[in-house]
Amino acid sequence: MPRSFVREARKRVGPKKERIGPIIERLKAEHADAGIALRFRTDVELLVSVMLSAQTTDVNVNRVTERLFQKYRRPEDYLAVPQEELERDVYATGFFRQKAKAIRGTMAMLLEEYDGQVPRRIEELVRLPGVARKTANVVAAELGDPQGVVVDTHVRRLSQRLGLTRHDDPVKIERDLQRLVLREHWGIFPHLLIWHGRRVCIARAPRCPDCVLVDLCPSARV
Ligand code: SF4
Repeated sequence: MPRSFVREARKRVGPKKERIGPIIERLKAEHADAGIALRFRTDVELLVSVMLSAQTTDVNVNRVTERLFQKYRRPEDYLAVPQEELERDVYATGFFRQKAKAIRGTMAMLLEEYDGQVPRRIEELVRLPGVARKTANVVAAELGDPQGVVVDTHVRRLSQRLGLTRHDDPVKIERDLQRLVLREHWGIFPHLLIWHGRRVCIARAPRCPDCVLVDLCPSARV
C-alpha cells in the first residue's frame, strides 16, 4: 500500500488514543457473547485446555476434552497413566507427544510446588513446562487477573489493520496494546478482536461494508 495512502487513512480516522475507547464500546455491543470458546469446569481443566489448543481449533479441543476430563480429574490422574496412554488420549489435538509431555511435566510441578493448584501470576505460569507467555496470559485472564494482553493471529491482524500497532512481533504488539488499552479491558479486549476477526474482519476478505468500525479503521475498504 503506498505510504501517502496510509498517511491519508490515518489522518482520516484520527489518533489511536482517541479511537480505542469507541472501538472497544462498539465491539462490546456487537459481540456481547465474546469470550473463551474452550469448555472447562476447573482451573486445572482450563490450563490443560489452553495447552492443548496450540496449533488447533477450540472446537477440536472441546471434542477431545469432553472425554479427557471424565478420565483425568486431578493433576495426579495425568501422572497415574503411562505417557503413551495420555498421548493416545490427546492424539486428535495434534503434536500429541509434546503436549502429553508438557501436561505431565506441568502436573508434576503443580503437585510439587503449588499444592496441586494452578498459580495466578504470569511469572509462575510461564515456569510450568510447555506454558509460554500466550498460554499464561489466557489462563491468568480467565482466572480473573489479566496481567497482559493475549496476542494471537486474529489480535495481531486486527491490531495492525486498525492501526493500533506497526509491529509484527507479538511481544511488541502486546506492549503497544498494554500502553493503549486500559487495564480493566485487558481480559475482554483480545476476545473482542478474535470474535470480530472470525465474523467480520476475516483474514482474506474483510467485510468492511458490514463493519461497525468502518469510520475508525484506516484499512477500511468501502
Ligand atoms: S473496516 Fe474492514 S479492515 Fe477495518 S476492522 Fe472493519 S472489516 Fe477490518
